[in-house]
Amino acid sequence: MGLMDGKRGVIFGVANDRSIAWGVAQQLHEAGAELAFTYLNEALEKRVRPLAGSLGSTIILPCDVGSDDEIAAVFKELEQQWGTIDFVVHAVAFANREDLKRPFSQTSREGFNLAMDISAYSLVPMTRYAMPLMSAGGSIVTMSYLGAMLAVPDYNVMGVAKAALEASVRYLAAELGPQKIRVNAVSAGPIKTLAASGIGNFKQKLHTMEERSPLRRTVTQEEVGKASLYLLSDLSTGVTGEIHYVDGGFNISAL
Ligand code: NAD
Repeated sequence: MGLMDGKRGVIFGVANDRSIAWGVAQQLHEAGAELAFTYLNEALEKRVRPLAGSLGSTIILPCDVGSDDEIAAVFKELEQQWGTIDFVVHAVAFANREDLKRPFSQTSREGFNLAMDISAYSLVPMTRYAMPLMSAGGSIVTMSYLGAMLAVPDYNVMGVAKAALEASVRYLAAELGPQKIRVNAVSAGPIKTLAASGIGNFKQKLHTMEERSPLRRTVTQEEVGKASLYLLSDLSTGVTGEIHYVDGGFNISAL
């Protein structure tokens, strides 16, 4: 018997096989879950379809999380095909490269709003449209980073967006707890992905973690996947509103 046998859910955020969302998908699949996937645009659809297909998934839908209508359409389709769902994985983030590169004080109003909209606000409508499909309870997991808590060099506007995301996790968890819907975040250490390529001095961040984290190494997509599996499964039924660090302990001993 797999930990996720009989459970169904949707994963937002696979861009390619290096995506953290893909690491989560693989763990969920191995544990027996049935998965639906979304992709941002046609270019990514070409990558996501074969990956999703390799896990036996047939529900593969377009979704720009900047649009409430597109988010609603995903959950409408899931309702038609499955009736109910058990979990949602939110692993999406975006900020303009120029805004990430600038000193934080120079962040444009437009760039600030965009980073907030895609990286933080999107969890709110995603939860709103998922709720009616989670009549028997459920689990929602998003991805954060230490830059939400500390002023991490080069993380800039994305750190502020992650702080809003983590606060949203707490407010959503407080609201949805009575409905047995849990909301948590995994705060992952740096992992080389497409999104990470927009962060300045990223190699140095990997190196710093190898030098200073208690485990003296970086973490893997698979390790983030396993922690997410814990939060999405019945192993964590008593856990909600938590920011769960998967960073080799870096957050407790960065200095
Ligand atoms: P990734 O590039 O593989 O994934 C980011 C995803 O966001 C992509 O699939 C992209 O298509 C999607 N996305 C961007 N804008 C979107 C939009 N408007 N609508 C829908 N989807 C959109 O990179 P990743 O590192 O796997 O990122 C996944 C999550 O993990 C992000 O929230 C990221 O901030 C977080 N995270 C990453 C790291 C790291 O070091 N890689 C560390 C901690 C947290």
